[in-house]
Amino acid sequence: MDMLHRAAATEYPVPALYLNGQWVNGADRPTEPVLNPATGETLALLTHATTADLDAALQAAKAAFPAWRATAPAERSRILRAAATLLRERADHIARIMTLEQGKPVAEARLEILASADTYDWYAEEGRRNYGRIVPGRTLNQRLSVLHEPVGVCAAFTPWNFPAITPARKIAGALAAGCTLILKPAEETPNTGLELVRALHDAGLPAGVLNAVFGVPGNVSGYLLDSPDIAKFSFTGSTAVGKLLAAQAAKTLKRATMELGGHAPVIVCADANIEKAADMLVAGKFRNAGQVCISPTRFYIADSIYEDFLAAFVERVKKIKVGNGLEEGVTMGPMANPRRLDAMKRLVADAVQHGARVLAGGKPADDSGFFWEPTVLADIPETAALMNEEPFGPLALMNRVQSVDEAISRANRLPYGLAAYAFTQDSAVRTQLARQLQTGMLGINSLAVSMPEAPFGGVKESGWGSECGIEGLQAYCDVKLISED
Ligand code: NAD
Repeated sequence: MDMLHRAAATEYPVPALYLNGQWVNGADRPTEPVLNPATGETLALLTHATTADLDAALQAAKAAFPAWRATAPAERSRILRAAATLLRERADHIARIMTLEQGKPVAEARLEILASADTYDWYAEEGRRNYGRIVPGRTLNQRLSVLHEPVGVCAAFTPWNFPAITPARKIAGALAAGCTLILKPAEETPNTGLELVRALHDAGLPAGVLNAVFGVPGNVSGYLLDSPDIAKFSFTGSTAVGKLLAAQAAKTLKRATMELGGHAPVIVCADANIEKAADMLVAGKFRNAGQVCISPTRFYIADSIYEDFLAAFVERVKKIKVGNGLEEGVTMGPMANPRRLDAMKRLVADAVQHGARVLAGGKPADDSGFFWEPTVLADIPETAALMNEEPFGPLALMNRVQSVDEAISRANRLPYGLAAYAFTQDSAVRTQLARQLQTGMLGINSLAVSMPEAPFGGVKESGWGSECGIEGLQAYCDVKLISED
């Protein structure tokens, strides 16, 4: 057994359900294996919740709601901040767990834990500023007050690509607003989400305020979304599943926040700084092996700099070190699951059949684990599947454009509208891009669109509402008007 395999065997905890403040495991509950994507080996068996467990989670969250709603925002804030401190203290430990179950390099995993701690802190403070307002009355005596109240018991379903930051946003938003929550982290990456829960448990969160369950995703979401006791759900994942959940939740008209798929366009204008843009975009594209909803993906590059930009980009791609995320110096890990590997094979083969040129990669990187080479494809017709379907992998798609207008119209042609990026020094072009791109987030000469203090979300079929920022807290609040005379 080599050192990395030994680490996997001893460091990876057995995941449990978290129901009403208790860690619950075993008995005759069904289980599923959790795999290490770098080796394909089983790390542990994950317990699925039974219907009785789901019911226990729901009853616990329901019972805990009145007291949590009545808890002073300052006290809720204190608990969230204490949990943030614990996450920072445990960052190295949790990062290794994340790399074992998800695959990303451990340095990336550590940054995600620190960003999750910052997210707990942001909501801890924002919860203390959940101001209502006084609206001037129509008469001298009329007084109109607007109150913000927690929506109630919430459900959250989070994905495997960012197993810490996606639960952190939903947990902290709900708890800071005074809601209680049932969380279902992705079954493929259970322990990272559980460590976020554990930090709150250890910080003194009252039993029932937060519960964590696992199972067959459709069964868990079906059970919770059918219940009239759940007031709101929050989902991060694919557009297809988002539509399914929205339809299910319509029966009881639940509020929803959904952060769904994206297919981010990158417009590189003729006046862009090629070297700087290539540095930023290669790091951004291949972060988390491209399994990022805001990953820069469809590149529309000005004709006059097309070949120079491609050369600068490919030169940097060749320096990426693919391997087990626990190994020193590795800059890109495996795909998180075999489904993504199959998708890469299908999408690249289809693009090549449509006439795309392969400038780098284009095939699996290793025969053990779920590795795919960092890939650059050029001149891809819009009829190719991956110009329409979110690739969610390490694929950069390069295309030539003749004008900014052409780039904008091609950027806007898909039903997605999550993130978009542009590289230019021209202020008139910046204004045009800001006005005309159909997107929830736009980075200009920057890929930094995700931070706790700013709203994160999409338009069109990329989602409903925002997480983080002031908007992230308001998403867990109802508004009540009191009119007095
Ligand atoms: P998928 O559509 O089967 O699942 C996406 C996520 O939704 C997973 O976390 C899964 O556990 C969850 N899920 C699936 N069915 C569910 C249900 N009925 N109820 C509740 N949760 C459910 O696809 P996948 O193979 O896991 O991921 C591939 C696609 O998902 C990607 O191509 C990408 O478009 C999308 N995705 C997006 C994000 C994001 O950050 N927006 C994250 C992960 C996956």
